[in-house]
Amino acid sequence: MSFLESVLEQYEIVADKIKLDNGIRERLRYPKRALIVSVPIEMDTGIVKVFKGYRVQHDIALGPSKGGIRYHPNVSLEEVTALAMLMSLKCALVQLPYGGAKGGICCNPKEMSQKEIERITRRYTTEIIWAIGPEEDIPAPDINTNMQTMAWMMDTYSMQKGHTILGVVTGKPLVLGGSLGREEGTGRGVFYMVEESTKVIGGKLRGLTVAIQGFGNVGSIAARLLFEKGCKVIAVSGSKGGIYNKGGINIKNLIQHINENKEIADFQNVNTITNEELLALDCDVLIPAAIEGQINKHNAKGIKAKIIVEGANGPTTPEADKILYGRDVLLIPDILANSGGVIISYFEWVQDLQFYFWKEREIMQRLREIMANIFNSVLSLSREKKVDMRTAAWMLGVSRISEAQKSRGLYP
Ligand code: NAD
Repeated sequence: MSFLESVLEQYEIVADKIKLDNGIRERLRYPKRALIVSVPIEMDTGIVKVFKGYRVQHDIALGPSKGGIRYHPNVSLEEVTALAMLMSLKCALVQLPYGGAKGGICCNPKEMSQKEIERITRRYTTEIIWAIGPEEDIPAPDINTNMQTMAWMMDTYSMQKGHTILGVVTGKPLVLGGSLGREEGTGRGVFYMVEESTKVIGGKLRGLTVAIQGFGNVGSIAARLLFEKGCKVIAVSGSKGGIYNKGGINIKNLIQHINENKEIADFQNVNTITNEELLALDCDVLIPAAIEGQINKHNAKGIKAKIIVEGANGPTTPEADKILYGRDVLLIPDILANSGGVIISYFEWVQDLQFYFWKEREIMQRLREIMANIFNSVLSLSREKKVDMRTAAWMLGVSRISEAQKSRGLYP
């Protein structure tokens, strides 16, 4: 089953559960718009190469669409469509005035120079320029894109419009209207979700054992915050595999090691493990923070963690969901667990539109409050309806979009 098929399968389950109006049910199955663009750039060698880029807007009933931009060799129209639908549900669940979108370019930035990445970003932005804007669709970073990518997108958009438009993308550097706390927003939200889930199983953060798949923006920040609170992060991994130490890894030292351009596997006093082995480790909390489809029907039975907090989008397949729910694993679904990024992106956008910037403490307090409240709503609904946390989160998200669609009616 493809990622999009999994997302649609989950959607049908939820549509049945909430008895979704048939017309709205049909409309939400499809994205509102899907844009495919060719992105030609001159490589450093002088050769011209053409890359495929996408921007998909799934639904805009609640407001302008919002979602990240991914640079990866596996980016496809199907993948971006599935991710755009998840963004619609995520924004609706956490009650932001946004619809969902996603974009990406099928490329391998690890094999490209900074200059090539800048050229591809600027050309891609120009190709999708009519679809994005602070009131239309607001991109943000995702896999292999970062603050610098967003600065180039903002600059390209502003140059074409003839004046500076801060609110066109979020996840920008502070000096360009970025928000305090945005870069670590997703990882921090994941951390809050570990905190809340630990309360549910009656545990404490100190001494909690954690394994984290993916050590990029989301994984490394969640790891650092957990490490600072006394959790034992026993394993982390990247795309080439991971490291393990039963006694816990010093995450601050590991981050410094990676900042010196060294490989995760070369870190001292650890054993190396594969990504598959990491998922099956004996630990309290497992955080998939890499890519989709990692926990599936083949490995779900072997998972020993009591709590799974999905930092990544779509890391668990529907078959694996059933197995894990049957074994009483508390799984905090992506649309809740990694919503910290879009929540702080929303704060950034609001600050940009008002040209008035908030203090970091205020931002963190608001983030924590929103995520803890939504966590408790999802938990209550899952208990009341006897469904897993993903189904409960989707029920809330889909219901909110449906309410907006109903109020707006079907145009014309
Ligand atoms: P990133 O590029 O900073 O890091 C990705 C990490 O995953 C890297 O450590 C990479 O080595 C690892 N990885 C890639 N392929 C892998 C594989 N096959 N097996 C194991 N590890 C692999 O990206 P990120 O921003 O941290 O995003 C990670 C996930 O979180 C994605 O699913 C993304 O959609 C989701 N997410 C990110 C944000 C955000 O604000 N950055 C927000 C919400 C959700």
